[in-house]
Amino acid sequence: MINGKTKLYGIIGNPVGHSLSPAMHNAAFAALGENRVYLPFPVEDVEGALVGLKALEICGVSVTIPHKQTVIPLLDRIDAVAEKIGAVNTIVVNDEEGNKVLCGSNTDWVGANRALETEMSLRGATVVLLGAGGSARAIGFGLQEAGVELLLCSRTEAKGRGLAAELDCPWYPLSEIAGLQGDALVNATSVGMAPRDDVSLVPVHSLQSFKVVMDIVYSPLQTRLLKEARAAGCRTVNGLEMLLLQGVAQFEIWTGLRAPVAVMREALSGDRK
Ligand code: NAP
Repeated sequence: MINGKTKLYGIIGNPVGHSLSPAMHNAAFAALGENRVYLPFPVEDVEGALVGLKALEICGVSVTIPHKQTVIPLLDRIDAVAEKIGAVNTIVVNDEEGNKVLCGSNTDWVGANRALETEMSLRGATVVLLGAGGSARAIGFGLQEAGVELLLCSRTEAKGRGLAAELDCPWYPLSEIAGLQGDALVNATSVGMAPRDDVSLVPVHSLQSFKVVMDIVYSPLQTRLLKEARAAGCRTVNGLEMLLLQGVAQFEIWTGLRAPVAVMREALSGDRK
């Protein structure tokens, strides 16, 4: 029941109409009987929106495209990993001696790490990371936080080498993917996403080099890469786990409560099962 004491949360970005986060967070609040609500805020004026967070006493927001980088100079504080990544997807509005303080962090990498950890231990593992875009960047820095040895493999050389230099790891062109070996392979490109879901960047015969294969694409849930990896005997992790577990981490930051993970998974899965 919404009343005078309801705490407000939301997502700022543009567009936000497709976001699965309102369903996930509202289901979690409801399951715990928390008097909190999470709303979509389509935002173009990000500076105005952040002033509004303080003025309206909104407790926290998710940040999505195109504002994950542009919010950074507007925040009062940002945690060390988000700073390395250069992107914030979570803001909590803290009350410090009567002052509202905007604190930014990044839970995309936390979600990716926790998702991969459902199938393997990360410390000392070697992971082949495919892609050099925004998600690969967050996942790369995040895996290194957990003590992973990274091999980066992507399409556009200058971009790939640039990210590899920042991560201080080797870079390989996609033409060399078949020769790469590791404990796990993570697809952090958009390849395999519907409607072009009949493609995979990884030749079938090279999949047996990996014990675990994770795809961050979640539409479809079972990408061609994951189907072929399972057939090759790999353990697989789908993109919904990262999406779920980054949301779980946000929920924990905002509420300090243990998140109802099964409820949140159910809210996200919907007709995707
Ligand atoms: P992005 O910044 O645009 O990066 C896309 C990456 O994919 C780039 O490295 C790009 O290669 C590569 N790529 C695209 N088409 C390719 C092709 N045909 N062959 C080889 N590489 C190709 O996108 P992003 O934000 O990182 O998102 C990537 C995917 O992750 C999207 O499908 C998104 O929906 C999904 N995602 C999932 C989650 C989750 O929680 N599960 C979270 C965020 C994003 P270049 O290096 O050549 O540009």
